[in-house]
Amino acid sequence: RKSVIRITTGSQALAELLGGGIETSAITEAFGEFRSGKTQLAHTLCVSTQLPANMRGGNGKVAYIDTEGTFRPDRIIPIAERFGMDPAAVLDNIVYARGYTYEHQYNLLLGLAAKMSGEQFRLLIVDSVIALFRVDFTGRGELAERQQKLAQMLSRLTKIAEEFNVAVYMTNQVIADPGGGVFISDPKKPAGGHVLAHAATIRLMFRKGKGEQRVCKVFDAPNLPEAEHVFQITPRGIAD
Ligand code: ATP
Ligand code: MG
Repeated sequence: RKSVIRITTGSQALAELLGGGIETSAITEAFGEFRSGKTQLAHTLCVSTQLPANMRGGNGKVAYIDTEGTFRPDRIIPIAERFGMDPAAVLDNIVYARGYTYEHQYNLLLGLAAKMSGEQFRLLIVDSVIALFRVDFTGRGELAERQQKLAQMLSRLTKIAEEFNVAVYMTNQVIADPGGGVFISDPKKPAGGHVLAHAATIRLMFRKGKGEQRVCKVFDAPNLPEAEHVFQITPRGIAD
């Protein structure tokens, strides 16, 4: 592997949990209940990735694939200010694309890979990695095909992470289980089955705590202890 960089998240507790920050040449998956902070962490990473190495940043550009329409450029401004960076320059270094179908999502990845061979990118966000698959393959009978296409997409993500020494941060949804005939989402069950589980280098489970507090727990990491830490969502991004 190329020399791995660990990018700060804005929260010391979260960084500790990750062994220093989110890793390049690897895929970090965040799953968990709605409003648990997955997208907010993506926004903070958009800025911290651009910090110089001596500020525990990645000194590189960011690619953002948004399948849910939840990226807010306005949120980047106070986060950039917090880290002492020029918000306009930070926004310029975020290559943003909205994905509309799973095929479109795949093609966006191909385009980004071409871009990454010319410029230094250090982060690729896919928020969320699975939403479009769940929309495009609805029937029970389509599950096998869905998983096969998902595996293709994930293998492309792995290739990008390793080839360009980029940190991939992808968010995942949780499964809704029929409980007494009513579908209730289970905050502890990530979607995507084994295919997704195997692609992720590190899996993080997010949940809500008190007020703006959020809890992040490491799942299935080969070289990290199963621990959890509390962080906060603030107007200036993720913090302790
Ligand atoms: P979903 O599964 O619905 O995509 P998510 O895990 O991506 O959820 P986020 O969008 O990251 O959730 O988090 C939403 C939460 O972030 C809100 O409930 C709110 O508490 C907090 N939040 C959003 N903007 C701000 C802000 N400017 N200042 C403080 N907290 C904020
Ligand atoms: Mg979100």
